[in-house]
Amino acid sequence: MKETQVVIVGAGINGAGLFRDLALNNVKVTLIEKGDFSSQTSQSSSKMLHGGIRYLENFDFALVQEALEEKNLWLKLAPHLCFEREFYFPLYNFSKYPPFMLNIGLFLYDFLSHFKNRPHAMLSKEAILNKIPSLKSEGLKASGMYYDGIVDDAKLTLECIYDGLLESGTEALSYHEVVSVDSQSDHHIVTYENVFSKERFQIKAQYVVYTTGPFTDKLLPHLGLAWKEKMLTSKGIHLWLKKDAIQIEGSVVLTTGEGRVIFVIPQRDAILVGTTETKVDAEMFNIKASKEDVTYLLKILNEYFPKAQVKEDQIISTFAGIRPLVKEEGTSESRGKTSRFHQIYRPTHHSYVLLGGKYTTFRKMTQEVAQELVPRFGISYNPNLTLNPLRQHSLYPTFGQRPKITPELIKAIIRGEKVTTLEDLIKRRLSMIEPMERLEEIEGIKIEEIKKMLP
Ligand SMILES: Cc1cc2nc3c(=O)[nH]c(=O)nc-3n(C[C@H](O)[C@H](O)[C@H](O)COP(=O)(O)OP(=O)(O)OC[C@H]3O[C@@H](n4cnc5c(N)ncnc54)[C@H](O)[C@@H]3O)c2cc1C
Repeated sequence: MKETQVVIVGAGINGAGLFRDLALNNVKVTLIEKGDFSSQTSQSSSKMLHGGIRYLENFDFALVQEALEEKNLWLKLAPHLCFEREFYFPLYNFSKYPPFMLNIGLFLYDFLSHFKNRPHAMLSKEAILNKIPSLKSEGLKASGMYYDGIVDDAKLTLECIYDGLLESGTEALSYHEVVSVDSQSDHHIVTYENVFSKERFQIKAQYVVYTTGPFTDKLLPHLGLAWKEKMLTSKGIHLWLKKDAIQIEGSVVLTTGEGRVIFVIPQRDAILVGTTETKVDAEMFNIKASKEDVTYLLKILNEYFPKAQVKEDQIISTFAGIRPLVKEEGTSESRGKTSRFHQIYRPTHHSYVLLGGKYTTFRKMTQEVAQELVPRFGISYNPNLTLNPLRQHSLYPTFGQRPKITPELIKAIIRGEKVTTLEDLIKRRLSMIEPMERLEEIEGIKIEEIKKMLP
């Protein structure tokens, strides 16, 4: 039987971040993921590295400060995967806060970043309409402007895994589902199954860490762990719109009657719109946007951009994910207000569960587990190793100048970037937002030809 020091179950950003941190600290670690790496929540976020301007409302200052520090760190560490852009926050005569309060909030946001954010500004009605002429002018009073980060969420996850794999004693398996964990006093026997061939394998590990995000409450009892539900999951969907659907230069933050915020963010030659906050259906894997969710987002868009009148045929594609929120005991069960804090549980002597948080703060969250785990192997934990730049970049960039896709490039990606299926290649390695079923060819290469190159 294979042996390792740590098995991590689930390769979203938290599993990937922990994998990298442990690997850099010389721990032998195996990462096991049921689908492709980053194929669930961590590819379905709003793709923002942000402090979370709206968490200021809940006085979550520590969370905002930490997230802003991490945002500014990743902008430096991985400039090929993220960039900063301006966000406009228009205020209307029905808005919850007057302009002076937004100004205070945005000042606080800059302050909590230790003034490392590019500084915010307040814009008059005329100035904001000048910047975004398509915005509804009726009732418009003014607008705030501040800066946050945009990230390719799937690729940052992938590159953390590639970075960890450069260390010896590491292994990352996609399309392998953990089906049972036999926990003894000082080790675990983890059984995992190849999802295609159904072949089963076992690995002995001293520690197991579950970074299974929104799937945790269902998975852990299924694996036989004593576990009470801890999550208040919530579904959020996004639309990718054709770039001419709305005329906007910067990103816009829209507030809804229920106090939700909807982001409209131009990027990747398209416009990203999201998100919603609704109950999760019984099925949690590979979830899709419902018709009602799409109609809801279009309705809000068309209220704020009345001249655009965006229709369904201007949607390129949609995607959905589940927020892995941790229930706050004794507080309201309102999903929108549930804070994005995280928790680390130790359900057995030799296992950890990391739950909740935000994408932006993954490095900090996983450090909390790593700093407990690493010394258990007689190694002194070095928290600074994750401050080094990522060493293996994706061969095809998401932002900026994109090279022509050639058969040689596709073969190199398949060889070097742990691709198993066509979807892995198209969605996450090439970062394409067009629905797979509509693609007949990519830059002159037929999809059938590409399929033949797959392992
Ligand atoms: C709509 C939406 C918008 C968001 N926007 C933002 C944002 O803009 N900025 C931000 O900072 N955060 C954002 N978040 C939050 C962020 O996306 C999540 O906090 C983060 O992606 C969670 O990562 P994770 O690794 O915990 O979970 P996941 O990415 O879901 O990873 C868990 C993995 O576990 C795997 N798994 C489950 N069971 C098994 C098993 N038996 N065996 C092996 N593997 C298994 C799953 O396949 C999955 O890949 C958003 C979330 C949502 C839903």
